Amino acid sequence: MYDVIILGAGTAGMTAALYTNRAGLSTLIVEQELYGGQIINTPEIENYPALPGVSGFDFVQNLYQQAVEAFQTEFVFGTLTSFDFQGDVKKITIGDQTYESKTVIIASGAKHKKIGCAGEETFQGKGVSYCATCDGAFFKGKEVAVVGGGNTALQDAKYLSRYCSRVYLIHRRDQFRAAQIEVEDALSRDNIMPVYDSVVEEIQGEQTVSSLKIKNVKNGTESILPVNGVFVAVGLNPQTELFRDSIAVDENGYFDAEEDCKTNLPGVFVAGDARRKPLRQLITAAADGAVSAEMAREYLDSRNEKEK
Ligand SMILES: Cc1cc2nc3c(=O)[nH]c(=O)nc-3n(C[C@H](O)[C@H](O)[C@H](O)COP(=O)(O)OP(=O)(O)OC[C@H]3O[C@@H](n4cnc5c(N)ncnc54)[C@H](O)[C@@H]3O)c2cc1C
Repeated sequence: MYDVIILGAGTAGMTAALYTNRAGLSTLIVEQELYGGQIINTPEIENYPALPGVSGFDFVQNLYQQAVEAFQTEFVFGTLTSFDFQGDVKKITIGDQTYESKTVIIASGAKHKKIGCAGEETFQGKGVSYCATCDGAFFKGKEVAVVGGGNTALQDAKYLSRYCSRVYLIHRRDQFRAAQIEVEDALSRDNIMPVYDSVVEEIQGEQTVSSLKIKNVKNGTESILPVNGVFVAVGLNPQTELFRDSIAVDENGYFDAEEDCKTNLPGVFVAGDARRKPLRQLITAAADGAVSAEMAREYLDSRNEKEK
């Protein structure tokens, strides 16, 4: 019986482990892919305090050593086949092995939706980005495109318009889905140019992105847009599907938990990008990891008090 089982070894999950380990709680971490999460392939992180320019790989290795290896934390790789978080004893099953704990922290993260066009995979991190806040500063003075028509796309375009000489906003319809105030604000900026009724067919370049092949969906015309970067803002999928029958989620599928990371189930906490929040970044994921671990410790303390 563990004190805590942490599901997901991204920034939130490993930071939670750092705090549970330091609090002397017996901890098991479960990861279904590789440890590290979304950040692992990012060449340079510019906005994590006190670590300017660190690579995603080094960030993840340092965190793994600090939070997992240093405490010899038990670590299991595998896919959850079933779970039961209702009672005082939480149970998860991976293959034919069942693990039990008194609390659970779910730090399952999110995945960016892709356009699915030619060149998108090839140029990821070489001009293709899914995060304007993270990578915008690399494109100072350059021409870029944002793909999407919702609030995130419009906000990304505005964010980038402060650095970039021109921002094309490519949307497959003739109107943006974003709130009117966002649309008006974005389109009032001289260097944001909407490209309506258009889809990206191919991202082109040699070492890095140099242009986009776009197609007008109404008249079928193809054209080439010279840009150095393309920011894909077509949505984010929180990794919460598995848990939605028992843990409350908001209208977009994110775990419906406040800053205290508590869910509707006693003893079950959530952390990181999978939680409802205004900013999904390493720093907010790490903060959630710390808070969720602390809330788990408090919950265990209050249970111990009751059992005395
Ligand atoms: C390309 C890119 C660049 C970025 N650059 C920056 C940047 O420069 N600065 C910044 O602050 N932020 C950046 N971000 C955002 C940052 O990476 C995320 O905010 C952060 O990784 C969220 O951490 P997390 O632990 O919540 O989730 P994740 O990093 O998504 O980790 C979740 C982990 O949980 C695992 N998992 C999921 N479901 C289960 C399950 N059922 N059982 C077990 N394991 C599970 C996943 O495999 C994954 O390893 C970037 C994101 C991307 C995609």
